Amino acid sequence: MFRRLAGVLFIFFIGTSCAFAQQDKARLEVITTLFPTYDFARQVGGEKVNVFLLLPPGVEAHAFEPKPQDVVRINKADVFIYTGRYMEPWVEDLLKGVSNKKLVVVDSSRGIDLMDERDHDEDDHDEEEEGGHHHHGGKDPHIWLDLANAQIMVDNIAGALAEKDPANNDFYLENAREYKIKLADLDRRFKETLATAKHKTIIYGGHFAFGYFAKRYGLEYDSPYEGFSPNAEPSPRAIAELIDKLNASGIKYIYYEELLDPKVARAIAQETGARLELLHGAHNLSKDGLKKGVTFLDVMEDNLKKLKAGLECR
Ligand SMILES: [Zn+2]
Repeated sequence: MFRRLAGVLFIFFIGTSCAFAQQDKARLEVITTLFPTYDFARQVGGEKVNVFLLLPPGVEAHAFEPKPQDVVRINKADVFIYTGRYMEPWVEDLLKGVSNKKLVVVDSSRGIDLMDERDHDEDDHDEEEEGGHHHHGGKDPHIWLDLANAQIMVDNIAGALAEKDPANNDFYLENAREYKIKLADLDRRFKETLATAKHKTIIYGGHFAFGYFAKRYGLEYDSPYEGFSPNAEPSPRAIAELIDKLNASGIKYIYYEELLDPKVARAIAQETGARLELLHGAHNLSKDGLKKGVTFLDVMEDNLKKLKAGLECR
């Protein structure tokens, strides 16, 4: 009796593990770099893909460099998706070390008009050119925060998945179509809400990721940071100027960036009495956020709420 049951169980386990193995083998192995491409690939690929995020949970995106085991992983993958060469300048070298000839590589920024770094800076340019910090040919890498750009990224990703797995072409394109409707709907609500803003300037106490976003919704922004390295310290003078501006403007909120201790924003908040609030650049999520399955749309919905309060929209 026991032997027969054990035999049945044994066959059952063999059967299920084969089924899992087959199912897994059928899935595309997709490697992504940052959270937006990770979530877009999940939305478009659904149960037909296994998506892996290279950036470890909670890690700041701009300082990230891939490890040797990341190259090993990409060598075994079907599709590799990165944001663009200004976000991940290491991709070109990394791909030279990859021997996987069947790998489909996706530059998600293809077809997007890139903005120069701090294109819309309203500061005194003469002074800044003296410092030599600006206009060194860099492009703003934060394309995903403009929800029209996000839709182009989704199309690029869907096209690559369909190319690698043409049997499921319709599945990927339909998922992309449905997901883009959600992005377009949120884009419309951002537009409608921010059009009623009493204040048109985002005061930001971190590295400013919202350049494309501000341009799309007709906003200005001010950050004491230069460029996109969150590790560079802003000058005391830039901080003092921001404090003056905040005091003069009647704006009651200062925003800070995700995943880093907001010491500059906190100091400005303490000095001015402004309220400190997170405006999430969606580069990456915390371990907890990833575990809970927080999506890009969740992050942006939350940003809409925070901006509605801080810019005093109707
Ligand atoms: Zn950034």
